Amino acid sequence: MEDELLALQDEAGVELASVVDNNALEQFRVRYLGRKGLFSGLMRKLGQVAKEDRPRLGKLANEIKQNLEKAFTARKEILSRQGSTDSAAFDLTLPGRCYPFGKLHPVTQIMDEICEIFAGLGFGIAEGPDVETDFYNFEALNIPPHHPARDMHDTFYINDKVLLRTHTSPMQARIMENNSPPLRFIAPGKVYRCDSDITHTPMFHQVEGFLVDHKVSFADLKGVLSVFIARMFDADTPIRFRPSFFPFTEPSAEVDIGCVMCGGKGCRVCKQTGWLEILGAGLIDPEVFKKVDYDIDEYSGFAFGLGVERIAMLKYGINDIRLYYENDLRFLGQF
Ligand SMILES: [Zn+2]
Repeated sequence: MEDELLALQDEAGVELASVVDNNALEQFRVRYLGRKGLFSGLMRKLGQVAKEDRPRLGKLANEIKQNLEKAFTARKEILSRQGSTDSAAFDLTLPGRCYPFGKLHPVTQIMDEICEIFAGLGFGIAEGPDVETDFYNFEALNIPPHHPARDMHDTFYINDKVLLRTHTSPMQARIMENNSPPLRFIAPGKVYRCDSDITHTPMFHQVEGFLVDHKVSFADLKGVLSVFIARMFDADTPIRFRPSFFPFTEPSAEVDIGCVMCGGKGCRVCKQTGWLEILGAGLIDPEVFKKVDYDIDEYSGFAFGLGVERIAMLKYGINDIRLYYENDLRFLGQF
């Protein structure tokens, strides 16, 4: 009996030393100290030993039980201390970890800059839906069904009458039909075309602008765009207007600026012409006014549309539009 008690004590000691987590500790407790555990099993045998040996063995058993309980408690403490090693090792005197600040995407930065310049000229800012109806995207802008200009747009159709807007110009009609002149608005936003290469992405950003009032002339258009270009690029950036065609403006022009890469001497970016096209513009076609019931003898206006990615490319000297959307932080972090 005495040997069995001592053997149990030794066995338990060895096993306890190998306990490394709370689960194993609990298993140990049940196995040795539980009501049906090994120690209790031995205690039941105590009744069978000779009467004269009982007090001595009882005393020994008690000591062993206390030893086991003490060892168990000590092990438990060690484990709980290990569990909180992290906080014990935490050095409050270390400096905090630095988190890099996020930055605005270059397209967003340019968009904000454009909005700020036109807001300074008294233009309101309006935003409209990306999912647009055929009416606002085409018909209200004097592009009826089967008009060849529709082919230029590479439209994503959702169904016959609903599409992803191919330009921000639908906002012209949306604003005009709910407001009376005089009007001065720009409409920034995303537009979509089924097109992708180094100068085109399927989604890109445009800012549409227009002004409607009495006796608005091409000179007003030129004045507003000149101020815009001088603020966006250098104050002495040369500008030229080239005749062009858009269904919703008449007359129409494309606006070029002197090449920002070569200063007008001719380079690969400007295809040796010394000029870069940056936006399309014109006087609003009377047909557009008729769609929103404006008196064409009373009112005239101008409109323009510019590509935000294109302006950012010229301003920052970026040669591949797809870089904007690859989410490479080494690229985006430069702006
Ligand atoms: Zn050039």
